[in-house]
Amino acid sequence: MDSVDVIVLLLAAVAVLFYTNRTKLTSIFFGNDDSITVNSSSGDIVTVLKENKKNYLVLYASQTGTAEDYAKSFAKELISKFSLNVMCTDVENYEYDNLDTVSVPVSIFISTYGEGDFPDNAANFESFLNNIESSDLTNLKFTLFGFGNSTYEFYNGAAKRTLKALKSAGATLIGSYGEADDGSASTDEDYLSWKSKIFDDLKTSLNLDEQEDIFKPSFKYEVIDEKVNGKVALGEPCQEYLPRNKLPFSKEKNVFTGPFNANFPYVAPITASRELFQSDDRNCIHAEFDVSGSNLKYSTGDHLAIWPSNANETVEKFLAVFSLNPDEIFNLTPLDATIKLPFPCPTTIGSVVRHYMEITGPVSRKFFSSLVQFAPNNEIKERLEELSNDKDQFAVEITSKYYNIADAVSYLSNEKPWTTIPWTFLIESLARIQPRYYSISSSSLSEKQTIHVTAVVENIPNNKSGNPIIGVTTNLLRNIQLNQSLNEKISGPSLPCTYDLSGPRNLFEDSKLPVHVRRSHFKLPSNPRTPVIMIGPGTGVAPFRGFIRERCKMLELQSNLKLGKHLLFYGCRNNDDYLYKDEFPEYIEKMDGLLELFVAFSRLPGSEKVYAQDMLKENEEQVLSLMKQGAFIYVCGDAKSMAQAVHATLIDILRRGLQISAAEATEMLKMFKTTGKYQEDVW
Ligand code: FAD
Repeated sequence: MDSVDVIVLLLAAVAVLFYTNRTKLTSIFFGNDDSITVNSSSGDIVTVLKENKKNYLVLYASQTGTAEDYAKSFAKELISKFSLNVMCTDVENYEYDNLDTVSVPVSIFISTYGEGDFPDNAANFESFLNNIESSDLTNLKFTLFGFGNSTYEFYNGAAKRTLKALKSAGATLIGSYGEADDGSASTDEDYLSWKSKIFDDLKTSLNLDEQEDIFKPSFKYEVIDEKVNGKVALGEPCQEYLPRNKLPFSKEKNVFTGPFNANFPYVAPITASRELFQSDDRNCIHAEFDVSGSNLKYSTGDHLAIWPSNANETVEKFLAVFSLNPDEIFNLTPLDATIKLPFPCPTTIGSVVRHYMEITGPVSRKFFSSLVQFAPNNEIKERLEELSNDKDQFAVEITSKYYNIADAVSYLSNEKPWTTIPWTFLIESLARIQPRYYSISSSSLSEKQTIHVTAVVENIPNNKSGNPIIGVTTNLLRNIQLNQSLNEKISGPSLPCTYDLSGPRNLFEDSKLPVHVRRSHFKLPSNPRTPVIMIGPGTGVAPFRGFIRERCKMLELQSNLKLGKHLLFYGCRNNDDYLYKDEFPEYIEKMDGLLELFVAFSRLPGSEKVYAQDMLKENEEQVLSLMKQGAFIYVCGDAKSMAQAVHATLIDILRRGLQISAAEATEMLKMFKTTGKYQEDVW
């Protein structure tokens, strides 16, 4: 790596740090859309605990909402089982310098993202941990649970670093450290088995009395008997979009200024979209978001976060199963000042179900066990108890059938609606719908004001109750693409689901969706002479399209530019799902021999299965020679099998080519990773 690259990597790290803190600065200066003022002028966690007479603290650091969801449900159980006065909060909201004086137990839930990284919003917590000194925290008693994915090298890295830091500072771990593995799809089961033990440990260690699980709401719920007015949120992504408010705007630059981020997305028009697959049974959407009306910026290799809404069919079933009136307008008032509103209020039940609640995905056993108290009759109560206590039976009857919450509940009641589950319980128990991330497939040099994404549509034809199993965001993108296409019409039978494309108060009309940009470390070497090896099967090709467009634009702008060799190893099933097939000849011509494309087909009729890593191996001489010249290696796409197979192939290539041991080759790749010469963007 040359010194320019080191500087660029450092600048990127500083930019990420600034970016993550910017979120916090934003919420301080502009107010977080769904926050309430805490009953304290202090940002110090210990002061806020004392002022609000809390006797237990639950902290979470969440990237995609999973740690937040589990932390909140853990906190609710502490309240309902042990009558504790719990404060549950995102680590980003407070300072921890006085944690040595904390007198209440603390449970921490923390996700790991990317290469063992802390979530974006945990920058201040991470720096607190990095700077605590030994025996600073002897007062602190804590439990810790990590959310990670064992297919990544630094599995649960953030949680493990937290454990090490707290223990070395003298804090006492109650019970045992727990971790969940998304890589083996066992997050819920890992949590449940840890939780059952930790509750026993907490009972003993804190001398707690257990009582029957009774839901205690955290909000005062008021029905508002008025017509919808400008103050009522109808699913706007945040308060700033309500008619009574104005989006921050720069007259000078003639753009909305946000600042747009994970708390405040920009509602961007999709100005072009197209279907990339040619098969009847699978779809992949190319969509172009125009951000010229905003000050939203991206750089090649970043991620676009798309904020979805639920499909009509899912919303309707959910409302029907829980006997909910979508038009009811209500307001929530937190019962104590440390609790945040989960979405802008007042609002309507229908808006919450459609725009703010995660209701499509698989139902968890954790959620099932919390329903026991609301069973409409003894028979269903027994069934709920049986299923929530027996993970194998739950897997057979619920998980293997791909049931979502509404499917599972109506399966238990033989399709009869449940009238016994309070709406407030659903509000507090279901996670808020999360944005989905996409590797940007355009180049910020060539497409300054548009952001392209390449999204494969997630569909499984039918679950056991006859409903299609859909991915929320990708089917929404497909609906928009079909709506935009002149030749095709959206028709019920050909689509597994439909959406309200106009959005709240027509905010999403004309193909608009809320988006924000997430900075990524996945960046081309700054020195264009450095050779580049890209491996990206399927939609893993997305950022490489961006990289290649960037190089083509650079050549267009500087005719005498000296460019290194670029190899792209791409894999698909056959010609029907060969992404951007029509574009590659042009890129190859523009790069004049400096771009070589290797395509592996895994399902060509009459041919053997070939994968991207096989192509890599076939061309190992060239790969090794470029590695010797300091090539940067990039891998994008499937984290589970592809990234590991590529990693193993690279070790083999290094081992054979350099006559070293597998351990030495592994160490070498590790070093490449640390220095940014081997970068992964996998999911
Ligand atoms: P979701 O609603 O999130 O559903 C996820 C899966 O669950 C789907 O397969 C769905 O069919 C299934 N499902 C739904 N309901 C149930 C049920 N009841 N039971 C069991 N299963 C169920 N994807 C791309 O296509 N292109 C990219 O460039 C890309 N880049 C990414 C970059 C990053 C950094 C990350 C983290 C992910 C990236 N992804 C990319 C994946 C993407 O973020 C989404 O996860 C993916 O598109 C699915 O989103 P969705 O909302 O359509 O599906």
